Amino acid sequence: MTGATITSRVLGSVDRGAAPVHAAMAIAGGWSAAASGDRLDCIDPTTEEVVATVPAAGPADVDEAVRAAQEASHSWRALPWRRRAGLLHDLADAIEDVAEPIARLDVLDSGNPITGMRGDVVSAVAELRYYAGLAGQTHGESTPTGAETVSYTRREPYGVVARIVPFNHPFKFATGKSAAALAAGNAVIVKPGEQTSLSAIALAEIAEAVLPPGVLSVLTGTGAVAGQALVCHPGVQRVAFTGSVPTGRRILAAAAQNISHVTLELGGKNPLIVCPDVDPAQAARDAVASMNIARSNGQSCGSTSRVYVHESVRKRFTDALVERLEELRVGDPLDEANDAGPLAFAAHHARVLEHIGRARSDGATLAFGGARPLGLDRGYFVEPTLFTDVTDDMAIARDEVFGPVMALLGWSDLDDVVRRANASDLGLTANVLTRDLAVAHRVANELEAGYVYVNGTGRRPPGSPFGGWKQSGLGKENSHEELLSYTREKTVTLTLPSALPSWARTRPTRGDR
Ligand code: NAD
Repeated sequence: MTGATITSRVLGSVDRGAAPVHAAMAIAGGWSAAASGDRLDCIDPTTEEVVATVPAAGPADVDEAVRAAQEASHSWRALPWRRRAGLLHDLADAIEDVAEPIARLDVLDSGNPITGMRGDVVSAVAELRYYAGLAGQTHGESTPTGAETVSYTRREPYGVVARIVPFNHPFKFATGKSAAALAAGNAVIVKPGEQTSLSAIALAEIAEAVLPPGVLSVLTGTGAVAGQALVCHPGVQRVAFTGSVPTGRRILAAAAQNISHVTLELGGKNPLIVCPDVDPAQAARDAVASMNIARSNGQSCGSTSRVYVHESVRKRFTDALVERLEELRVGDPLDEANDAGPLAFAAHHARVLEHIGRARSDGATLAFGGARPLGLDRGYFVEPTLFTDVTDDMAIARDEVFGPVMALLGWSDLDDVVRRANASDLGLTANVLTRDLAVAHRVANELEAGYVYVNGTGRRPPGSPFGGWKQSGLGKENSHEELLSYTREKTVTLTLPSALPSWARTRPTRGDR
């Protein structure tokens, strides 16, 4: 790409039909291209057209970014926490001022529906404000000792945090998932998903006017090159990753090199148990809502993808489910009238269609969808899809699809369905729909997942810890625990001088003379 102008301005400049914008990445307190000159295309999944390009960072860029972030981290951590909190609130205000262009940029880059992406900006702002409010809550503890010593702990930031995020909620993750690390006093380097990097660059564009230079960097590029180099850099002692299980394993292994602290938010194959006492029509609406189609075309780690319905309501529930899916409109995600848009990129589209093909050949019944919607010849579209007659051994009941695809299974014994729901290597979220509180309480206690929803699937109050069990992850986010995870504990034991100086000694009283 010779002669093209590289710019830091992506907000309001990237658009359909416009000439592609050639964006810079935000490292070392400035804006740059990759040292190699390599670039990645940003493709609008609705039109399959290139709307922008971003730098494909290599090890030299990573090294420059880390060194500059180390430098910036010293003055950032030295700021009184109230000042850091104030700046995070300022960043939240600045984001709110351009919420609509950010949401639009995410739609163009990811194909997620516009209403969902507006919601993502709201969530990102809420996370910034939540952690700004918690910024002072990194205090240590004291240990009981004798008179000669004082022993206490301090919590100090790591310095530089690598924040690697996936493609599915681009702005929300780049922003919200950096908030705790920033509040705790770290400089953060965000590595966005290579398919959806634009709104992370927009975040840096907004932050430029608010945060000190180098405190928040955005390094674009592939996972295999830029991501790997970032994780392996000796200047990075704290790695926070959100993405797939195989990449999580790779990152854990790579982080072993520097014995870095790693947290992982990984995939899910999230079950929903529908009990016999529910209203089948309402349960079907809840089940479809829990697929997160309107938010991210089903591409959410917490989406429900296997539903166990009690045999007594199976028929009515299935009919209601099909009815609800029929109501969903698939089309241009910029059009508010549409509930679903395309999947984020071509390879993922092919992968989801492969899962659908495999389910059919394994003998599941395709009850709804399963193909490209009629009339949408371009773009990475796939219909919301429902498989019935699924058995526990089928791949569609076991593997994460990460798309708008649901597998329906039946049950008749409560203990048995809980056992089946738990028979997975993954344990991110789980759901139960029932009006019976005793059943809800028992099932919630027995489900092996980091987050259990009883009714109201997907409703997560701010501050409620989120993080997977088993191979779905390590550590918790959206909580005080996350804030503390960006600090390292130091113990200080002060041994006091055995003899007090003469001026501090107690004066002898008259009677002592
Ligand atoms: P992915 O693992 O392919 O990529 C995620 C990020 O890691 C990207 O930025 C990528 O460039 C980077 N990466 C890839 N290889 C790397 C390496 N060797 N070293 C360092 N970085 C590397 O995931 P994806 O396809 O972008 O996202 C989908 C997955 O993310 C799904 O499995 C989904 O369940 C999971 N996810 C989990 C959560 C959660 O909170 N638990 C949230 C969203 C998505």
